[in-house]
Amino acid sequence: MERFTELTILQPADKEQIELPRTSEDEIAVGKKRLYIESYGCQMNFADSEVVAAVMRNSGFATTSSAEEADLIFLNTCAIRDNAEQKVRHRLKHLIGFKRQKPGLLVGILGCMAERLKTQLLEEEKVIDIVAGPDAYRDIPKLVEEAESGQKAVNVFLSREETYADISPIRLNSNGVSAFVSIMRGCDNMCSFCVVPFTRGRERSRDPHSIVREAQDLFDQGYREVILLGQNVDSYKWEAGKKGKAEEGGKEEGEERDERDNEVKGEISLAETPSSLSSLSSFPPSSLSSPIVTFADLLERVARISPELRVRFSTSHPKDITDEVLHTMVRYDNICKYIHLPAQSGNSRILKLMNRTYDRPWYIERINSIRRILGDDCGVSTDMITGFCSETEEEHQDSLSLMDFVRYDYAYMFAYSERPGTLAAKKYPDDIPEEVKKRRLSEIIDRQLTYSAERNQRHIGQVQRVLIEGPSKRSPDFLSGRNDQNKVVVFPKGALQKGQYVNVLVTDSSSATLRGTVVNEPAPANK
Ligand code: SAM
Ligand code: SF4
Repeated sequence: MERFTELTILQPADKEQIELPRTSEDEIAVGKKRLYIESYGCQMNFADSEVVAAVMRNSGFATTSSAEEADLIFLNTCAIRDNAEQKVRHRLKHLIGFKRQKPGLLVGILGCMAERLKTQLLEEEKVIDIVAGPDAYRDIPKLVEEAESGQKAVNVFLSREETYADISPIRLNSNGVSAFVSIMRGCDNMCSFCVVPFTRGRERSRDPHSIVREAQDLFDQGYREVILLGQNVDSYKWEAGKKGKAEEGGKEEGEERDERDNEVKGEISLAETPSSLSSLSSFPPSSLSSPIVTFADLLERVARISPELRVRFSTSHPKDITDEVLHTMVRYDNICKYIHLPAQSGNSRILKLMNRTYDRPWYIERINSIRRILGDDCGVSTDMITGFCSETEEEHQDSLSLMDFVRYDYAYMFAYSERPGTLAAKKYPDDIPEEVKKRRLSEIIDRQLTYSAERNQRHIGQVQRVLIEGPSKRSPDFLSGRNDQNKVVVFPKGALQKGQYVNVLVTDSSSATLRGTVVNEPAPANK
């Protein structure tokens, strides 16, 4: 029955990302110790594991794809729903056997579960040697040294300023075509159901110069797509010379944001940013007029690296996405016409309880703006939660009717899972029975399947520009790539290679995939 608690309508590749942990790859490792990293959860976690691999390379570790070969095993964890944590607990049981066979093997827990449970993890799971929260990755070599000397090592301090801006991630599980680039960390939104603000700390934006440099480097290495990542990309904001504050982690979850502010442990000096904002003269006019760089400015700057570099981003927050961002998307053909705009619910009362700070009419107005500015073909996806505290049948129907209104291209759908310490856990009883949550979930999944199929069908007969990502999983005679709207397109291989753009005439579709044949005819702009 677990299927129903986390079933999503995704592209096959996305499904794989979410349902399977991602593991590190084999590096040449003469004389080096071996690190195996398994990453669970969201794209941010996958991007973080690439930072961890880079930090560890500097202290003499090379990655391996085999846990059996490893001297050090890291699980980079997710805490967003209870079943995400249970998966990790299960994996840890398995690792006990590894440790028995290889004394000296070290096991570390990184990421959100490490931050949420802190030293409690060491008490509950004896196999663990190291616990490191999302802002402690620079400290991991020291923690490993401590663990090598037989001590348990923990760092769960949260930072007001850490963005790992100067670290060049080592790409793991990369197809060599598409790469994640973190543009910010943390979240200040305090949605009442969500543990992220407690596990990833305060929102902070990364120096735009380091972002553009990373994207440029990726392009120079042959990558053709960057995915700009943040929990709420629309609140990206870089201000010249703004200092951050250090904040100590280790506080109890669920403390109100203001209480957390009072606990700030004092100012620490901001490391010199790699380049000063005086070099903003290379920014487009919109960002020149102000010492503040917004998400629209950043998007534009990355898009200007090359028309051959596709730019995607995730996640947009309905309260913050601006028409300026939508207009920037229109101006650049290489900014993909796809927006992930999680609604969570279609009912205004539930949205208020969720502390999403928008209501149904606001969300609908944002969708109307997307349609007006970017047109009907722009891909739109959502996250939906069923069975949130006190949700009635009528309120659930409002989520379904919102889906009828928007006709999403895809959706990530979840049954509400109470997370200890969140505002909802403190204020509202988790009073919707599991079977009702699951029944509602299966209803929204069924509805979404219809719209995914309908939205994909729209492309039949259209020529789509596709960035080839590699062989199709089903057959080596076919290649697979994505169109502008992030949909997987499969077509016969011919003499084509990954990293190339091709025009594909779509001849067939399902709710998950488009199929077609390569044509010479150019794809219309923004297709
Ligand atoms: N920052 C993104 C946003 O605001 O849309 C979402 C990030 S969160 C990692 C991904 C999704 O997990 C959320 O959009 C929400 O649908 C879901 N989620 C978060 N907490 C949840 C909970 N307690 N129970 C069920 N689903 C949850
Ligand atoms: Fe969680 Fe809300 Fe922040 Fe998204 S915006 S990470 S749902 S608190």
